[in-house]
Amino acid sequence: MRIALVSEHASPLAVIGGVDAGGQNIHVAALATALGAAGHLVDVYTRRDDPSLPASVPFAPNVTVVPISAGPATAVPKDELLPLMGEFADALAAAWIADRPDVVHGHFWMSGLATLDAAGRVDLALGGHLPVVQTFHALGVVKRRQQGARDTSPAERAFLEPDVARRADAIVATCSDEAFELKAFGVPASRIAVVPCGVDTTLFSPTGPVAPRTDRLRLITVSRLVPRKGVGNAIEALARLVRRGVDAELVVIGGAGDVDHLTAEPEIDRLRRVIADEGLEDRVLLAGGIAHDALPAWYRSADVVVCAPWYEPFGIVPVEAMASGRAVVATRVGGLIDTVVDDGTGVHVPPRDPEALADAVEALLADPERRLRYERAGRRRAATRYTWRRIAADTFRTYERLAASDRANELLAGGG
Ligand code: UDP
Repeated sequence: MRIALVSEHASPLAVIGGVDAGGQNIHVAALATALGAAGHLVDVYTRRDDPSLPASVPFAPNVTVVPISAGPATAVPKDELLPLMGEFADALAAAWIADRPDVVHGHFWMSGLATLDAAGRVDLALGGHLPVVQTFHALGVVKRRQQGARDTSPAERAFLEPDVARRADAIVATCSDEAFELKAFGVPASRIAVVPCGVDTTLFSPTGPVAPRTDRLRLITVSRLVPRKGVGNAIEALARLVRRGVDAELVVIGGAGDVDHLTAEPEIDRLRRVIADEGLEDRVLLAGGIAHDALPAWYRSADVVVCAPWYEPFGIVPVEAMASGRAVVATRVGGLIDTVVDDGTGVHVPPRDPEALADAVEALLADPERRLRYERAGRRRAATRYTWRRIAADTFRTYERLAASDRANELLAGGG
């Protein structure tokens, strides 16, 4: 099948350097690579942010990245890209009219906007119907609910995003919580498939190098240092554990720079204050950002991985932790409701509740047998449910269904 993926701000090419690559870059790169490996021809359309890029860049077997000129050929913050989406759609439509793919798949709401616009023009020019699949990665309605005025998305997102959801032929949501939100937009359940994000289960594995550790019981958090990730709650939970006589420590991994550049992090002062107020200077290691490839050794060094976000569109960290054979204590929010099985691969706790977090971690630290059961089940779950091969196959089922109904319509039109 000929597949076009559209990812306006998150290019797979950014993954190679690994610096600015967020979850969407990794998702699009890994999905495209796995679809290509399965024999499909994949073009990934992304906004040109570097004038030196050629017209197309071979990325992986059967996968090509196509940089589209729309606005300045430099980095533009994603919340400023909306005015450029008309130009982006023009280029998509021209490319697809010249060489029509079998299915197109938008990633993030703005890509969805441009993809629907371009696909509509392809239908007018060539007849038939080019099926449009959409994955949001995050929903503005959830962001606004959680962040209020701190949300920097363009105001138009409030009505354009639900419109994309209602117009797409199918939506691939990354968790069941997102599917509920989409149904509230008026999207029929029959048009929503839930396919999670994947993880590299070869990189994230239980065996391999282990980061240096002390004799203390070790908790680890891995996340960007923003308030909603709940790192402060993890520190507050550690304080309770220590007061209860548990000899534990917490390694906080994350931050845009390494440990020497943490002062630039907006959240760092608040976290340092919590650490000082609780007298935990010798028990919390602020490790800074750690290269992705070096993370498995850190996961392996943990007794328990703590994921305490207030909300989470998907949350790849608990899946990486499970793939690395580690038990996870996770807040019962967003994607974590699906990924972490309560009393299966870890424990669920309410968000913003350090007391409940401390209770769950304390009980788990005191019960190595239960931990071992979770560790084994977590690895099994990651290696069966969350490989990119499986994610690509599940995503492809949606493409196949739409392409088949497109063909059926063509036959009906021809026969009628
Ligand atoms: N990550 C990393 N190094 C760090 C901190 C995070 O490589 O120091 C990676 C982590 O392994 C995961 C991603 O960043 O793959 C975070 O994804 P998640 O979905 O958990 O959160 P997001 O940052 O996308 O909200």
